Amino acid sequence: MAASYPKLQLRKLGNTGLKTSSVGFGASPLGSVFGLVSEEDAVASVREAFRLGINFFDTSPYYGGTLSEKMLGKGLKALDVPRSEYIVSTKCGRYAEGFDFSAERVTRSIDESLARLQLDYVDILHCHDIEFGSLDQVVNETIPALQKLKEAGKTRFIGITGLPLEIFTYVLDRVPPGSIDVILSYCHYSINDSTLLDLLPYLKSKEIGIISASPLAMGLLTDYGPPEWHPASPELKSACQAAAAHCKKKGKHISKLALQYSLSNKDISTVLVGMNSVRQVEENVAAAEELATFGRDEETLSEVEAILHPVKNQTWPSGIQQS
Ligand code: NAD
Repeated sequence: MAASYPKLQLRKLGNTGLKTSSVGFGASPLGSVFGLVSEEDAVASVREAFRLGINFFDTSPYYGGTLSEKMLGKGLKALDVPRSEYIVSTKCGRYAEGFDFSAERVTRSIDESLARLQLDYVDILHCHDIEFGSLDQVVNETIPALQKLKEAGKTRFIGITGLPLEIFTYVLDRVPPGSIDVILSYCHYSINDSTLLDLLPYLKSKEIGIISASPLAMGLLTDYGPPEWHPASPELKSACQAAAAHCKKKGKHISKLALQYSLSNKDISTVLVGMNSVRQVEENVAAAEELATFGRDEETLSEVEAILHPVKNQTWPSGIQQS
């Protein structure tokens, strides 16, 4: 029943004027990257998310080789609500075939994405995982190309995404002010890795909207563990497994604890969680509501932090060596 859920908190996204729900819908699972998801489940998950107050949906042509965009498009269309009621981000530059941050490719990319999403515009177009390209090309060629797409009304705002945190300062220090509106960082604000904290003052000083993704560390902080392709070290995987087992023994859920940890920092405008079922949507929204009402389970959190202490802030390599 919709009435049993208060609306999720809305938070300002930098100086975009957008207000994103604290929990955002990460649509990579709709591309079946964490296991097969039927079209019926994908559409139902999007519907339930919107019904419970999630207004932000993130995808990419890379997720499931365009499948995620198609599934999200079907889900959004089935909502049958005015376009202004939800916020959509997609990405460019990363594809199943590889990386291409050229102006020509990203300009073509948005039209392909809009067709798959069945939309006239997206709210945010991100350069996807820029550490795999030349950051100087991103500064000098990709961002100016995206600026033209913004002027053409195909995207309202521009973002950059990637794993190493230094990519953000490198690019933001070199582009004209106001040409990048948001950043999307992942796996750096969860119980096992909170290094995004150090970058928050810099991003706030530039009024950049902050999107943090993967509060469950791409499956590390779940009962069933990460997918096979997960890049974490065996040491990190087993520490997270031990933390999950500890929670289970206490009758607690590691995923709920992990999401609540990420949601607690209000400088982060929205926390993108990957969701593939109505059940996960309901659990995650309930976790946010429980946090707002009762606060965090500090006792279990400190026990889990102690278990993860030996691997705290351990990450993995991503991208090419920048010259
Ligand atoms: P995540 O940490 O959100 O974990 C997703 C996994 O957790 C999936 O297997 C999902 O089914 C599962 N899950 C979700 N809710 C659960 C619950 N209540 N209980 C148990 N399991 C649950 O990782 P993610 O999906 O990689 O990240 C979230 C989103 O952020 C992505 O879908 C994508 O939209 C975005 N993202 C972007 C980038 C990038 O731009 N480079 C990188 C990572 C993620």
